[in-house]
Amino acid sequence: MTLQPKSTKYDKDKVRKIAGKAVDFLLPPLCPITGDIVDKIGMISPEFWHELSFINDPYCARCGSPFSFDSGDATCGACLDHPPVYNQGRSALAYNDASRDMILKFKHGDQLHAVKAFTPWLLQSGKSLIDEADIIIPVPLHRMRILKRRYNQADIIARDLMRHYPEKTYIPDALLRVRNTQSQGHKKFEERKKNIRNAFEIHPEKSANIDNKNILIIDDVYTTGATLNECAQTLLDGGASTVNVLTVARVVKE
Ligand SMILES: [Zn+2]
Repeated sequence: MTLQPKSTKYDKDKVRKIAGKAVDFLLPPLCPITGDIVDKIGMISPEFWHELSFINDPYCARCGSPFSFDSGDATCGACLDHPPVYNQGRSALAYNDASRDMILKFKHGDQLHAVKAFTPWLLQSGKSLIDEADIIIPVPLHRMRILKRRYNQADIIARDLMRHYPEKTYIPDALLRVRNTQSQGHKKFEERKKNIRNAFEIHPEKSANIDNKNILIIDDVYTTGATLNECAQTLLDGGASTVNVLTVARVVKE
């Protein structure tokens, strides 16, 4: 009979852990979407890149929705009919099959390293909003949702972005989600607006931080804008001077 030292299991685990890290370090960087080998971490494979639709000028000065041609109008019809509560919204990508796939993998499939691809896009599309902001915050998730998913995807995106702006103030819990609302899923704007009403509150200890400040809210996707408008309304009611919003992707109406 061979006596196994008691520490064997512990040592094996330790070795596996160390070896795992070394293997991670030695492995070539992979595209977070396709799994193809790419030149550096956060890079998207060229094939997938062509399927993404980046939002460039011209776009609506308020919500950032792209115009199919330069009509000279600064504001889109939707913003004229129902002006958003926030001041300016910008998004890096149009929400299409490719960006949906990428964001769903990031959000539910634990492909968290995809954030390394998002950050340079947000730095470009949101530069002026980030420069103007006094405070940056993520759209919060309800604590029950965090327990289920283990992380808030908006917080992951915002934190990676903030590495490029160490002088800016990031307050991840300035807004609290006090109601665990139903999924916004396939709801239309008015239903979403009703569903999300009074879902947020300002953290009781953070209200002084937002008073009279220009605040930038970060999220993954702008769908109808109902959630971001409700966040903006809560912040403005709480004394913020201006609220802008920046997302990785946004739904673009045809
Ligand atoms: Zn607009």
